[in-house]
This record gives sequence, C-alpha cells and structure tokens, in this order.
Amino acid sequence: MTNKRITIAKGDGIGPEIMDATLKILKASGVQIDIDEIAIGEKVYLSGNTSGISSDSWDILKRNKVFLKSPITTPQGGGYKSLNVTTRKMLGLYANVRPCNTYTPFVESKHKMDLVIIRENEEDLYAGIEHQQTDEVVQCIKLISRPGCEKIVRYAFEYARQNGRKRVTCMTKDNIMKQTDGLFHTVYNEIGLEYPEIEQDHWIIDIGSAKIADTPEMFDVIVTLNLYGDIISDIAAQIAGSVGLAGSSNIGEGFAMFEAIHGSAPTIAGQNIANPSGLIQGAVMMLVHLGEIKAADLIHNAWLKTLEDGIHTGDIFDAKHSKQKVGTIEFANAVIERLGQKPSILKPVHYDHDSQINIKPYIRKEAAKKELVGSDIFICWRGLDANDLGEKLSPITTKNLKLSMISNRGIKVWPNGFKETFCTDHWRCRYTTGENLSISSSELIDLQKSLIENGFEVIKTENLYKFDGKIAFSLGQGQ
Ligand code: NAD
Repeated sequence: MTNKRITIAKGDGIGPEIMDATLKILKASGVQIDIDEIAIGEKVYLSGNTSGISSDSWDILKRNKVFLKSPITTPQGGGYKSLNVTTRKMLGLYANVRPCNTYTPFVESKHKMDLVIIRENEEDLYAGIEHQQTDEVVQCIKLISRPGCEKIVRYAFEYARQNGRKRVTCMTKDNIMKQTDGLFHTVYNEIGLEYPEIEQDHWIIDIGSAKIADTPEMFDVIVTLNLYGDIISDIAAQIAGSVGLAGSSNIGEGFAMFEAIHGSAPTIAGQNIANPSGLIQGAVMMLVHLGEIKAADLIHNAWLKTLEDGIHTGDIFDAKHSKQKVGTIEFANAVIERLGQKPSILKPVHYDHDSQINIKPYIRKEAAKKELVGSDIFICWRGLDANDLGEKLSPITTKNLKLSMISNRGIKVWPNGFKETFCTDHWRCRYTTGENLSISSSELIDLQKSLIENGFEVIKTENLYKFDGKIAFSLGQGQ
C-alpha cells in the first residue's frame, strides 16, 4: 500500500520551530505519510505575490488534498490578501472545528471545559463585500445561503453523533437579523429534527458569549456563523489557559487543512520557547481525518501525559502547576519519550473510528413563488431634515409605486419621525404599492429614471420580494 501524502508549510515567525517539533513527533510515532513542503506567507508576499502563495503550491495542495499549516505573518499595509481566508474559500473548507479544552489541575485555568466550536467558514461578513456609498457611509454585505447553513449545521450534528457528544447548541443574533441569522436558526431547527437523540438549544450570541466566558462547562458542541464563531473560539481558547494549546481543522468536501489556532508570534520567534501544542493538536486531528487512528491515539495520549508530568513551555509554566520548564524541541522530545503512555488523571483519548464525516449532498428545493412588491432606493442626500426629503420625494411616483417610508441607518425618519434622530447622508427610500402587490421590474427602472431626472443621486437599490406570499424583507424599524 502506498503512503498517504500530505502538504506542509512551515510559515513565518514561530512557524518553522513548531512545525519541526510536530514533524519529529509524527516521525517517531511510526506513521507512514509522505510530505511535500510548500512556501507560503511573508517571503512570498514580499516577493511581490499579493496572495502569499504561488500557483505551483496551489497545484500541490490540490493534488494532496490534506494540508498541515503553520501560522503565517500577513505584512501590514493594504494590498495583501489574507491567505487563510483565501485558502478556506478556494478549497471550499466550509467547517472550522475548534475543540476547546482545559487541562486542570495541570494547566492553570479558572474554568473546566470540553467544548467544540463548529464555525461556518465561508460566508457571512467574511465574504468581504464592502463599498463606500456616500461621504459618510460604508457598507459590508452579510450573505448567508441555505446551502451554507445546511452544510455546517449538518456537519455539527454528524460530528456530535460520531464523537458521542450529547448536545448541539446554536448561537445567532436572529432577534435583530431576522433574515440572515433567522435562516441559520431555521435551518438548525429543520435539520435538528433528523437528530432526535441529540439535545438542542439556541442562545442569542451576546449572552451566549458571556456564558462561554463565565461557565464554558455548560456547553458541548456549538454551531454558529462565521464572525461569531471566530470571536467565541478565541474567547474559549484564551480562558482555557493559553492560545498556544489549541488546534483546529478546516474541512471541506474534497480538502482539509489543519493548524494551530494562534498566529506567528514574531516577538518570540527563533528562541525555542514557543509552545508547539497547538500544531501538535492540529496534526492529531489530521491523523484522525486520514484514518491513522493508532498514531493519533499514541501522540494525543503522550501529549496529555507530558502536560500531566508538569513538563511545560514558558507560556503555561507556573511554579504551582509545573515541574520543568522546557523549550519547543525539548517539549517535543518529552512527548516522544511518552509515546505508548497514557495520562492517569487527565482523561485519555481513544480514537476508535474513522472520523471522516460525510454529509448528505445539498438538494436544492423547488423554487418558491416570488413576487416583486417594491424597492428600497438608497439615495445620497446632504440635507438634514427628513420631512424636507419626504416632501421632495413624495410627488415622484409611477403607476403603482409610491414612497411609503424613509429610514436613515435603519431608523424610520419619515413619515412621523423624531426630529431628534441623527441622520447621515445615506437615506433608504421605500417604494411600495401600499398593499405589497406585485409589480414589474421595468416599473422600478421608470421610478429610478424619474428620481435621477429630478436630481436625486441613487446609490443602490434593493428589490422587495414576497416568497410564497410571505414578506421577505425587514420592516421599517430594524424589525
Ligand atoms: P499571535 O497568536 O501570534 O500572538 C498572540 C500572543 O500569544 C503573543 O503574545 C504570542 O507571543 C503568544 N503566542 C502565540 N502562540 C504562541 C505559542 N505557540 N507559544 C507561546 N506563546 C504564543 O497573534 P498576533 O500577535 O495577533 O499575530 C501575529 C501574526 O500572526 C500577525 O501577522 C497575524 O496576522 C498572524 N496570524 C496568523 C494566523 C494564521 O496563520 N493562522 C492566525 C492569527 C494571526
């Protein structure tokens, strides 16, 4: 049988040291894998490649399909694209899985937790679709898709089922964002019906984050949108003891990437003091993904035993919990010496299954009955009085469409607004038939033409639709 082949990148800062330590442990475990190394990060960026990776390296990544990556440094200043975000999107790595554990009483932490955060990795505000629209207002578009929600929610439930987890908690802000976060929550409820044996609950993200910071032990698996997942996973890692301890996987249909959650820590680079544990954890997740269960078991248990024996790198060293302060490579050697041993107080791990999670392919639903019922026309206007704008716009109508509402930053300011409401130069002018009756799209063009002919600067429009007779846009007051 031929060996499995992976791609590695040593990255920047502490990247090469922690990768060398991790590879040494992999080799000592006896696992048979072949390795191709690619260059990514700062040197590639500074050589003039704004994406931080060459096309030859993409070919290797695509061929090998499994990527173990050290952190990289993104140079300061505009023009450099985040390689992490690009890799996740280009390879379709839709699920970011971050186990967050504490190792008390061996590593100082005020908490006790064993939770896994499953973060949607491709959509949300991280689509990075941003525009400046007026002198005073910029926007970032939050795109949430049904396939995106279905894939990540299904992944979370399958992960819980396969790993013997009891509960999957959903976190959103759908009390405010009823369309976008509302879709995520709806899909969670729908797919949850297929997993009756798994407990399910939903938290609004703000109080949910507060609870993670306060009582993380109350959570098991958490599934959430991209931005919230990014934030809560860093909170969880930090309160667990050190950002240097946790690894993560980024999983797609054909590809997978494994890494430490921390960055390249340039200020401690080259000193043999970085904790290699995050990348070791990433490598263990990779072995499980590759089906190399025995090696994953050996390394993970030896690593736990090393922590338990008080052999600690500087970031987690303290006189009360630690016995010996070691450097990066000495820590790796200590793990190697313990291959075959298990921790006696910390819970040993036992990987007894192939962890590849295969989720059902997305099946597109039949298209709903879609009716165009109006338009939000966004105007740049430098006046300050909403009533003045209302008076100027009201006479501009078409056969069916009339101005029904003006809002500024989502607050209704006409008709019957408060004169105290602060207004910018960015106005949303809602045109409807009054009863949300269907209209043709050419009527919207006529309306825009009239507005422009009357001297208004239209900066963008959003069509207002009903889907299957249901209003599918937010109402006036952020409702
Ligand atoms: P960082 O995670 O590199 O460092 C934060 C703090 O944690 C620092 O005090 C650092 O010394 C410490 N630290 C991090 N990893 C450690 C380890 N293994 N052992 C001991 N201490 C450790 O975050 P930052 O300073 O915000 O970012 C530095 C660079 O890393 C930036 O260029 C950033 O863009 C990049 N970054 C890369 C990734 C990635 O490649 N996945 C992720 C985050 C940040």
